Amino acid sequence: MNLRQLFFQHIAQTSQAPIGLEMVKADGIYIYDVNGKKYIDGISGFSVANIGHSHPKVVEAVQQQASQYMHLIVYGEFIEQPQVAYAKLLTDNLPQSLNSVYFTNSGAEAVEGAMKLAKRVTNKSKIICFNKSYHGSTQGALSLMGDEYWRQNFRPLLPNIFHYDYGSQEAVDAIDKDTACVILEPVQAEAGVVKPSIEWLQQIREKCNKHCALMMFDEIQTGFGRTGSLWAFEQFNVVPDVLLLGKALGGGMPLGAFIADKKLMDTLSYNPVLGHITTFGGHPVSCAAGKAAMEVLLENKWIDEVKSKEQILLKYLHHPKIKSIHTAGLWAAIELESFEVTQAVAEKCVANGLITDWFLFASNSIRIAPPLCTTNEELKTICDIVIKSLDCIT
Ligand code: PLP
Repeated sequence: MNLRQLFFQHIAQTSQAPIGLEMVKADGIYIYDVNGKKYIDGISGFSVANIGHSHPKVVEAVQQQASQYMHLIVYGEFIEQPQVAYAKLLTDNLPQSLNSVYFTNSGAEAVEGAMKLAKRVTNKSKIICFNKSYHGSTQGALSLMGDEYWRQNFRPLLPNIFHYDYGSQEAVDAIDKDTACVILEPVQAEAGVVKPSIEWLQQIREKCNKHCALMMFDEIQTGFGRTGSLWAFEQFNVVPDVLLLGKALGGGMPLGAFIADKKLMDTLSYNPVLGHITTFGGHPVSCAAGKAAMEVLLENKWIDEVKSKEQILLKYLHHPKIKSIHTAGLWAAIELESFEVTQAVAEKCVANGLITDWFLFASNSIRIAPPLCTTNEELKTICDIVIKSLDCIT
């Protein structure tokens, strides 16, 4: 059997039609397949490679840390320099109230830990979340999933979870004395890059304050500069009680985090002791990679250029088949007529050397989210490929 056959035989499949390209190398914004064909990574590995792939400083940090030590003991027992140094860098770049970092292995685990934190801190269990939101695939995170289609075959899920429309007054009104937390994305990713109004987010903040409920922002896709500021919440003048990070956090290595004030976080250390534990969370190699990646992101000031790059997308992405385009920084959802058209265009893009995809709850929209280091010329090439691929569709 060749590698492709072995992939279908032995790797558990998550869809009937995976992209199925055999990739052998990634460098900057490019990924190379086994035949030497070069692709632009137009989605940053789903918002992971914000600084591009295999940056030399990240590779060096991984190699250096792996040669010192890898896993030593379960999370939180030894003082491990890579964890401490990365937590310091993160909190130095956050408001004062977000000063304590709990590192996990993944985004979903950050969501799980944060939900437990909300229950522990507030002694309440009602959770408010949103239709068309995605927070992960584990049972707790899946309970928050914003569409019954993905939940229905996995019930029973967590009780006391209530879904509302993003941006609705109903959601604001639903926050009451029984609410433990409200969990939301400051820009809804899988809905197709949907921005809320500043006023709505501020109303949620006020209601959470009034009823001692924690406001949690899932910035697992929006974080690390994607929307034009290091954290998307900076553009809404609202500070969450808990910030959830993942994806780009690890610089290409697996890492998630929930971040809150130390007073809140301390509740996980007693009654019961070990209120949340993990063997590999905050792996030293992942933390070393993530810290190096964040330093590269900040040193190169790529975030400062995100808004002007957004304008390039808006300038060149015009075609009679494009119904609308939603953007938030270097992130676009290009709405087409149907899922079938979107799928056909995405396939053409791949054939034309651009990796792209659609959105979970906006399957009629092409996803564009290239690394933030993509140059203006490369962005123009991305737009050209999308337009050329649209031209091919009858
Ligand atoms: N939250 C958001 C907004 C996400 O986009 C994702 C993953 O796509 C997650 C949470 C879950 O992260 P992970 O896949 O690392 O568990």
